[in-house]
Amino acid sequence: MTMAPATPVPVDEPQPGSVETFDSLDPSNGQVLASYPVHSADDVRAAVARAREAEAWWQAQGFEGRRTHLRAWKGVIARRIHELADLVHRENGKPHADAILEIALAVDHIEWAAKKAAKVLGPRRMPSGLMAANQAATLEYQPLGVVGVIGPWNYPVFTPMGSLAYALAAGNAVVFKPSEFTPGVGSWLAHAWTMAVPQGPNVLQVVTGLGATGAALCHAAVDKIAFTGSADTGKKVMAACAEHLTPILMECGGKDAMIVDDDADVAAAAEAALWGGMSNAGQTCIGIERVYATDKVYDSFVRELTARLGEVRPGSDALASYGPMTMPSQVDVVRRHIDDALDRGGRALSGGRIEADDDSGYVQPTVLVDVPEDSDAVQEETFGPTLTVARVRSAEHGLTLANTTSYGLAGSVFTGDGKRGVQLARLMRSGMTSVNSVIAFASVPSLPFGGVGDSGFGRIHGEDGLKEFTRAKSITRQRFELPTPLLTFARKPGLTDQLAKVIGLVHGRG
Ligand code: NAD
Repeated sequence: MTMAPATPVPVDEPQPGSVETFDSLDPSNGQVLASYPVHSADDVRAAVARAREAEAWWQAQGFEGRRTHLRAWKGVIARRIHELADLVHRENGKPHADAILEIALAVDHIEWAAKKAAKVLGPRRMPSGLMAANQAATLEYQPLGVVGVIGPWNYPVFTPMGSLAYALAAGNAVVFKPSEFTPGVGSWLAHAWTMAVPQGPNVLQVVTGLGATGAALCHAAVDKIAFTGSADTGKKVMAACAEHLTPILMECGGKDAMIVDDDADVAAAAEAALWGGMSNAGQTCIGIERVYATDKVYDSFVRELTARLGEVRPGSDALASYGPMTMPSQVDVVRRHIDDALDRGGRALSGGRIEADDDSGYVQPTVLVDVPEDSDAVQEETFGPTLTVARVRSAEHGLTLANTTSYGLAGSVFTGDGKRGVQLARLMRSGMTSVNSVIAFASVPSLPFGGVGDSGFGRIHGEDGLKEFTRAKSITRQRFELPTPLLTFARKPGLTDQLAKVIGLVHGRG
């Protein structure tokens, strides 16, 4: 297959209908990578109108046709994985190897959604029950129509894919507004779609711009908004969608914790905490930000963790562990959290305060201990390469502390007893928990992904993720008329008394 250049051509001139452009910057040096249109409310409405037209064609493809098209899209992404990874590296800053991992996971989700949609959403016979034995009951999950997807920059392929692939597999057309920090990645994905599915280019479209473009999508009469981003922006999205009764899916931030139990493999826990906390410069919604280690293992955990810190280094070269902060303003949040922790008696075992004049964008791996539980570093999402480590009496005590933040996205439990691990995982107030690993649930396409509290609501991934982009449609078909019909004014006198007796016999015992 021949493909036009996959990276979008920089836009020097304003696009038709759009008066402005904005720049995508390389976070490692601030250089302009490309310019993209700031799509106006009119542009967004026009994209939604095109999606409405494309929707009928897409729905007519049926599950089988959509599976074929989604696999073609997946194929383009898989064949050009290095090209896309390079773009992710340049826009987001993460190492190329981490971008490969992210894209590989996203591709796996496309395959799962494409393969499972018919089984999960297709028509099925349901039991009719006692009161309607003469009815054949059918349930199916129909597409909503046009779904607006608003994405973040931290995993610019994997994160929106949880909405894109699942909404498309369910039969919806999609208008995608990527983050203003990763517009090239979003445009690349849409471009790959037009290459893979030239008959239906408007089934997946991208609109680029800042927050106002996202806001315009909320007001563009789409059938659902799937939002991934911060809780603060999520509240604005929710308020805008409320005006139109547009349903929403909210995938917001987190403050995930790891619990290290008495009998845990401490070395494995330290390794996992390091990766969970520092990879992608800590800019992972399901990254580990806090560790609660029991009295028994606290010292050895801290020893194992600090011993590994020397291996972890920020940078933009091929061997760097993680890149610069993608969004320069995030450094201020990280600085504030570290300062607050240290001002209030905490100690930094590595890293430490970020100087006010340090505008490199690189933050050293920072491990903080003795930090008060009510400090910002423990309660708020830091979204940087930092970990707080606290000593607790027991895993249960750790869980109590872990569950006190307003967030509840994911987390991890390390224990020597797998059964106990699952029991502890159940007690964690979060949508997902990994036992003896971190982030593993995200690589299991059949498992739903989403949070509680300020981490949001609704689910991507898995059967729930497919159903999220559908409406349940119930159909009854009368197979024969009852000799004694109930739903009629011509009901026989005394029939409901007989019914009351039957109900008493069937349901009234005990
Ligand atoms: P953000 O909230 O700043 O922006 C997210 C998106 O919303 C962007 O595309 C932005 O342009 C758009 N936007 C901004 N204002 C808007 C408005 N008024 N109306 C509509 N759209 C608007 O978030 P971010 O900085 O891009 O991403 C980081 C956040 O995302 C973190 O909190 C992180 O934890 C969270 N996140 C959550 C998940 C998850 O699955 N739960 C995954 C990745 C990231």
